[in-house]
Amino acid sequence: MAKARIVVIGSGIAGLSTAAAASENFEITVVEAEIQGGYHSSGRSATIFQKNFETGLISRMSVISENFFLNPANGYEQVAAPLHRLLVAKSEEKHLLDAYLTRWSDSLPWLRVISNQEIAERFPILNNDYAHAILDDDCLNLDIHNLLDGHRRKIRTNGGVVLNNYRLTDIQMQGREWQLRFANGELLTADIVVNAAGAWADQIAELAGVQKIGIQPKRRTALLIDPNQDSRNWSTIYKLTNDLYIKPEGSLLMVSPMDEHDSPPTDAQPEMMDVAITVERFEELTTMSVERPTRTWAGLRSFVSDRNPVIGYGNPERNFFWVAAFGGSGILTSPCYSEVAAKLLQDRTVPEHWNIDLHELSPERLQND
Ligand SMILES: Cc1cc2nc3c(=O)[nH]c(=O)nc-3n(C[C@H](O)[C@H](O)[C@H](O)COP(=O)(O)OP(=O)(O)OC[C@H]3O[C@@H](n4cnc5c(N)ncnc54)[C@H](O)[C@@H]3O)c2cc1C
Repeated sequence: MAKARIVVIGSGIAGLSTAAAASENFEITVVEAEIQGGYHSSGRSATIFQKNFETGLISRMSVISENFFLNPANGYEQVAAPLHRLLVAKSEEKHLLDAYLTRWSDSLPWLRVISNQEIAERFPILNNDYAHAILDDDCLNLDIHNLLDGHRRKIRTNGGVVLNNYRLTDIQMQGREWQLRFANGELLTADIVVNAAGAWADQIAELAGVQKIGIQPKRRTALLIDPNQDSRNWSTIYKLTNDLYIKPEGSLLMVSPMDEHDSPPTDAQPEMMDVAITVERFEELTTMSVERPTRTWAGLRSFVSDRNPVIGYGNPERNFFWVAAFGGSGILTSPCYSEVAAKLLQDRTVPEHWNIDLHELSPERLQND
């Protein structure tokens, strides 16, 4: 029997990981508006894997994802390296450290409070005022390029194709199949459409005449700063006030103020004011002063109202499938959600022992409001 044909819109991590997971059982075509995949959110991320994240569902999905990152399947290069996180606070913020331990110690029993000497060894330029730190040494630094390349290889090995410079402009149901038109004049048909268009996911739904899910892209700023010393073995620093993190990136430091500014879906650019705020916070947290950042950028993290992802067939159109709204965790949870998506595409259900409450993920939870 011929395989059902799927067109996946978007070749960020959501589109490519889902397409790779589904590629054995479906005829897959991935279409991407830009001349290269990963140009938007997926290529602008910090690529940190940690086992606790803002919702219980996301934390569970990240734990399930770890094995793939540590033991990638055949055809994937190495996709993860160890990463140590230090969650730091000043003396007057010590209650934040206590609250963090209370919230997470049961699920992350390896968390430990470290001495001032160990703090200084792990991050020598930390301002002395930050006298308190928790070490989480069970995190990973993910390699997004190897991940995306591995997914592309798997799709191709299973007979699928990935097409760049295919911007969807129109989509109609004709009889029992979708007809998709692209800005380059091409036309494709499909049995199922997978909406993995990131910040543009609601725009795609609108084109298809499917109920939207209320996705809100939020801009986040990022900088690279040169510490002028060898920082390759330093730990990653998070302020427990949740307004700055610093991650060693090669010989530089990636710095983000953890900002969230509502944005339309767009090629996000950093605002000068946000860059200035980031530099100011970096200088407050460290003993360094910054003449100018080496590089600045911004990317969109897209959320729905409950900040959980959206995975499943939409309503009322049954052959329109969502893989969207990954906020700040679309890379770290991708091995889990891509398997869930592939199983749902195939069987419209997942095995009970996966312990996934499909309602928490379903587009219908947002479409019926
Ligand atoms: C600064 C920053 C730091 C982050 N840090 C982390 C982190 O440490 N760990 C983590 O897991 N996540 C992190 N994230 C979040 C992560 O990057 C996202 O959750 C993830 O990349 C979302 O992937 P996506 O595939 O849904 O979206 P995207 O990567 O944006 O992909 C969507 C694609 O759809 C395409 N598209 C849109 N419209 C059309 C159309 N009409 N036709 C064809 N194609 C179309 C777009 O061109 C785009 O390539 C971070 C994000 C930012 C901005």
